[in-house]
Amino acid sequence: MMEELQREVLKICPVCKGKEFNNVLTCEDYTYSQEHFDIQKCILCNFHFTNPRPDAKCIHNFYGSPDYISHTGKTQNILDSIYLGVRTLTLRWKYRLILKRKKRGKLLDYGCGSGEFLAYMDKRGWEVFGMEPSALARDRANQLLGAERRLVEEKLEDMEHKKLDVITLWHVLEHVPDPNKLLTDLKLLLADDGLIYIAVPNFESFDAQYYGKYWAGYDVPRHFWHFSHSTLQRLLSNMGFAIREKIPMKLDAFYVSLLSEKYKNKGKHSFIVLIKAFVTGFISNLKANRNMNYSSHIYIVHHQ
Ligand SMILES: [Zn+2]
Repeated sequence: MMEELQREVLKICPVCKGKEFNNVLTCEDYTYSQEHFDIQKCILCNFHFTNPRPDAKCIHNFYGSPDYISHTGKTQNILDSIYLGVRTLTLRWKYRLILKRKKRGKLLDYGCGSGEFLAYMDKRGWEVFGMEPSALARDRANQLLGAERRLVEEKLEDMEHKKLDVITLWHVLEHVPDPNKLLTDLKLLLADDGLIYIAVPNFESFDAQYYGKYWAGYDVPRHFWHFSHSTLQRLLSNMGFAIREKIPMKLDAFYVSLLSEKYKNKGKHSFIVLIKAFVTGFISNLKANRNMNYSSHIYIVHHQ
């Protein structure tokens, strides 16, 4: 399927600079290429990553899938409809999470996809900016925000120095080739009392353990990094950030379980599959209620 897949090998752990890695799992790219990718862990700090991974020149090929719905906003099947339904509910929930801590100000949504969250915040009086590498998604986002305005850029360098009150990375940090560089750049843009909201999947959750290589939160090779609480905390601390709050994303347990069941059952949908996914999501949330290992979390972080 891929003519020339150039793979890039990570040699130094971005969290602790360790150089010795062990293989943990081999996962398949279920949404697009059907190719296999290894997940490795750093033996010093236990950080997990996809290694080797497609290099910067060819990674965009793996987002070419019409299935990558967060870029197109179009629905094709029941899973897509569920995704979009959940997304609408989630928009309001995210807005409230922000409103609780900041009434109004400048917001950057980094990796904003087709811009629904930006448009939602824009309507509520926020001064919004976006960053999105996919040209298709970026154009959609700019259209959504009004044809006469161009608020969504391709790179951070295209943005002038702004003192941002809130920066959001909704399931984005795991896709970024160099998280250290990104966090350094964002630190310069963030106001002294600004907050960054970082949503990431958690491979230490029950649903991740249960589904193993089928777990949709691995999403190889688009997810380069697989965070746990301790490795994310260490990465953030290295970059001069501290975690202020950690918020569970309970709906993700259900959605991710549903996708994982789909991968495990080779795309077959059935009532049983639906029930299994629901039960797994439910157990995951129940267990996480005790150990705080939810399927995904939002970390709210500030300058150290
Ligand atoms: Zn390490």
